[in-house]
Amino acid sequence: MTQIVVFGSANMDLVAYVAKAPQRGETVTGREFRALPGGKGANQAVAAARAGGTVSMIGAVGADAYGTQLRATLEHSGVDTDLLRTAEGPSGIAHIVVDDEGGNAIVVIPGANGTVTSLAPGDEAVMALADLLLLQLEIPLEGVLAAAEAARRHGVRTVLTLSPVQPLPSGLLAATDLLVPNEHEAAALAGVTDPYEAADALLEQVPEVVVTLGSSGCLYASRGADKITVPAPHVTAVDSTGAGDEFVGSLAVALGEGRPMPEALAWASSAAALSVQRLGASAAMPCRGEIDELAV
Ligand code: ADP
Repeated sequence: MTQIVVFGSANMDLVAYVAKAPQRGETVTGREFRALPGGKGANQAVAAARAGGTVSMIGAVGADAYGTQLRATLEHSGVDTDLLRTAEGPSGIAHIVVDDEGGNAIVVIPGANGTVTSLAPGDEAVMALADLLLLQLEIPLEGVLAAAEAARRHGVRTVLTLSPVQPLPSGLLAATDLLVPNEHEAAALAGVTDPYEAADALLEQVPEVVVTLGSSGCLYASRGADKITVPAPHVTAVDSTGAGDEFVGSLAVALGEGRPMPEALAWASSAAALSVQRLGASAAMPCRGEIDELAV
């Protein structure tokens, strides 16, 4: 089985569904409220575990009820949380207002995620045994960099999700094997809007790039080889929250199993297409049997 370590965030998403988002000074009555486990790190960990990987999550939750719930959600999906710290203070939350047009406004308060600035004793030993390390940018960048460099020391393949996009510390891309931005993130980092051109620009800094293109699928580029495009299955999307995390988590499992890149991308596209047909992020993530069924 593919051994995967995720070093990243866990948040409770506090989602208010309203017809129209309130303006400054305004109060509106919403339709529905949900507290949904999220955070890119935790989402990728759940995606990879449900897709059949053996997954350890490293990061931090707070010493509160959300922390207990976030840990339980990971464990319920089979993720090992032995290295998930419980920090003093609150868990990370994302305060999200979703309006009837599908637009959203989000405030993230990092809480415990903000304490993950370095490796803790035991982290590197577990990373050293992994096939892949999955990283995102929702914890302090010095923590992301420390994890990437530790993986590099042990020859572990690193996969970096470029979200939320922001200036990167020098050395992070040098320690990244596979960069996975969506088209907006690719454009922001590369400084060009065309995803093909953006991929070419990013290849100057990392050996492999997958640009995800929403319902249009994805684009894979590696140095010295032709680009590969993989279409997304045609489905009726009801909620694309976490689609990118599902894509990365399942792609990591397939790559760890030694599957060739085109096959791994198609399998991850099937997994992500399943996830967008259901509400929620980690709650919508498919298990291996479902992915295999759609992927054949
Ligand atoms: P992010 O969620 O990070 O913004 P994307 O929107 O590009 O990333 O989606 C990631 C992947 O999820 C896509 O490459 C695609 O495989 C899948 N996906 C997203 N939206 C849809 C959709 N409407 N139909 C089918 N697949 C989708």
